[in-house]
Amino acid sequence: MSKQILCLPGDGIGPEIMAEALKVLDAAKQRFGLDIEVSHGLVGGAAIDHDGVPLSDETLALARNSDAILFGAVGGPKWDDQPMANRPEKGLLKLRSELDLFANLRPAILFPQLAEASSLKPELVAGLDILIVRELTGGIYFGEPRGVRTLENGEREGYNTYVYRESEVRRIAKVAFEAAQKRGGRLCSVDKSNVLEVTGLWREVVIEESAGYNDVELSHMYVDNAAMQLVRAPKQFDVMVTGNMFGDILSDCAAMLTGSIGMLPSASLNEKNQGMYEPVHGSAPDIAGENKANPLAQILSLAMLLRYSLGEGTTADAIEKAVSDVLDKGYRTGDIVSEGCQLMGTVEMGDAVVDCLLNA
Ligand code: NAD
Repeated sequence: MSKQILCLPGDGIGPEIMAEALKVLDAAKQRFGLDIEVSHGLVGGAAIDHDGVPLSDETLALARNSDAILFGAVGGPKWDDQPMANRPEKGLLKLRSELDLFANLRPAILFPQLAEASSLKPELVAGLDILIVRELTGGIYFGEPRGVRTLENGEREGYNTYVYRESEVRRIAKVAFEAAQKRGGRLCSVDKSNVLEVTGLWREVVIEESAGYNDVELSHMYVDNAAMQLVRAPKQFDVMVTGNMFGDILSDCAAMLTGSIGMLPSASLNEKNQGMYEPVHGSAPDIAGENKANPLAQILSLAMLLRYSLGEGTTADAIEKAVSDVLDKGYRTGDIVSEGCQLMGTVEMGDAVVDCLLNA
């Protein structure tokens, strides 16, 4: 039976970079004889314009019935005055919660060809390859009660609840241990167990889970030290696992170690390995429609989709190799260009990846 991918390009540069990823998918199908069907839907601002809401019930049903979703980016100034409940980003959040996409995988990989693009010294980051596994549907971002109340003395007080159930920690730990098994065999769990009881429980549960993964070396780090170590000696890490809020901050920090947001893919998975795959960056309205966007994060998101949700690791490897080959040839979009390299547009970069994939 053919596998189903739902393609949701979204807004801004989303449709431009998605078009390049779909060209690469066609080339991959041709080279590897893959049986994949692609359906298309609207999300974000594009869906608000067409359906009045950022994610229609029809599109959500399509998502539920897909093996994987390839997502572009949403948002832009056109929809900034929408009420909070109908903002473009709500489409993305609804997909995450409705499909229970609790595991966010964010690789921070620095292709050696781009070591100069990092704000850190090249020797600290060249060849960097970290995977941050972030819990995505729990923790303080979702905990109840939450709100702003007025105290008896008239002063306002804001409050949120940081809560994790044991089962939530267990399932994200399992994803992280399995990812570490497929990579360098090292897992660092990040918490603040010296101050927060909830992360004390987190640490206990991760240790309990480690009993099933004797081939993975487990370590623990407080989040403040982890932030420091990420900029001091980032190559010490293989896989990091942490809760929603710490993961949000650390994964952006790790992303910037690589120098270009236009190069970074991500995956969000549920317990059935159904997943949504998207670049880390947003819809970049400042360069939308100008053939300037870097399509490589979207193309690398496609590679992750093939590896994690469709079990096509060989094809994923070939796409990642094609991206590396394109960089070897000195081809660059504006966000990663440096002296001596050839500046290319979005479409030309997509064509170059297709060419490398088909003529490898
Ligand atoms: P952004 O990531 O869209 O852009 C930040 C900067 O990076 C801009 O200068 C942009 O031109 C550049 N950039 C981003 N992607 C690039 C690419 N592929 N190639 C070259 N340059 C690239 O973040 P922002 O400006 O803060 O947000 C713009 C819009 O995107 C907002 O509406 C925001 O809400 C939305 N957003 C969406 C997502 C998402 O869909 N997951 C994530 C973040 C922001």
